[in-house]
Formats: sequence, structure tokens, C-alpha cells
Amino acid sequence: MKMKTLKFNEYFKLNEIYKEEIVKNADSVRKSNAQGVVVEFVKFHFRKKYIEFRVMDPRGSGKWWQVFIQIQNIAQISRDKKMPASEKIQLAIDAGDIKVSCKCPDFLYGGYKYIAHVAEFGIEKEEREPVFKNPKTKGTVCKHILGALQDIDNHIDAIEKSYKEEAKNKYKKKTI
Ligand SMILES: [Zn+2]
Repeated sequence: MKMKTLKFNEYFKLNEIYKEEIVKNADSVRKSNAQGVVVEFVKFHFRKKYIEFRVMDPRGSGKWWQVFIQIQNIAQISRDKKMPASEKIQLAIDAGDIKVSCKCPDFLYGGYKYIAHVAEFGIEKEEREPVFKNPKTKGTVCKHILGALQDIDNHIDAIEKSYKEEAKNKYKKKTI
């Protein structure tokens, strides 16, 4: 079964938050700043279904920030034994329910952690409204998450490799 022949709603409900919506609704300054970030894949966390990246803006603080993108539907999709792992991952990213987090101050205090929590695409809970920094609660994510989401298609091979390794380790541990 090829990915192209699948209808998105064969797997997912329509009201879930897709990657596309997070990217589209990002604030224009973050969109512009995300163009210059460097995105490196770190690993796939099998149990939590996190894709871990480290992201840095050479024109910003120059610090590396840990970004998690959770592809919640990967377990569900994995039941399809005929589909190659890379297609499963791509499908979970493009058509699945996505949750995100970044450790940078802009995400934590600029209102995005709150927006993400309220709109149900945040990994971590945040109930404090950004009354001073982002009173109109505009945008969706920081430049690091945005940069990672926009670059994620270039990392599918690496994610697949890590996914397979982690899956193998998981089953190894079970048999011990
Ligand atoms: Zn960030």
C-alpha cells in the first residue's frame, strides 16, 4: 500500500492538529527567523514517540535547544505490516496528531507553551496565560520548532534508522 493511495482520514480524526496548521499559523517574525536555523536530528524515543532534534539559530543566541516532536499515531500506523517504516513515519508526521516542545525562553515565556497546551499540540502543560508577552496569544511555536517542522522531511532516513534501532532494543529488553 502506497502512502499516496491512503486517505488521511482512514487513519485519523479530522479535528486533530496537523503539522501543516502549526506551520501555517506561526507568527511572521518566527517564520522569518526560522529560515536561518540549523536543525540536527538526535534520536527517536520509542516509548514516548518523540523525534528529538537540536536546533540553533546562528544569528540568534547561538545556543542549541532541544526540540521534541511527538508523532502520536506512529503506533497505530505500525500495525500496517506492509508499509515501509519510512512511509509510516512520513504519514505520522504529515497526517497525524502532532505534539511539540522546545526549551527556549521564547517558547516557554512568549506564550507558545500556553497556546500549544490550550490548542492541544503541546507536550507539556502550561496554564499561565502570557498576559504581558503575548496578550493576544498570536502564533503557534518558536523559530526552533518551526525550523524543525519545516526541515523534518530531510531527516526521514535518520529517523527511520533510529526508529528501527529503538524498536529492536525495546523487544530485546522484553525477552530478557
Ligand atoms: Zn524554541
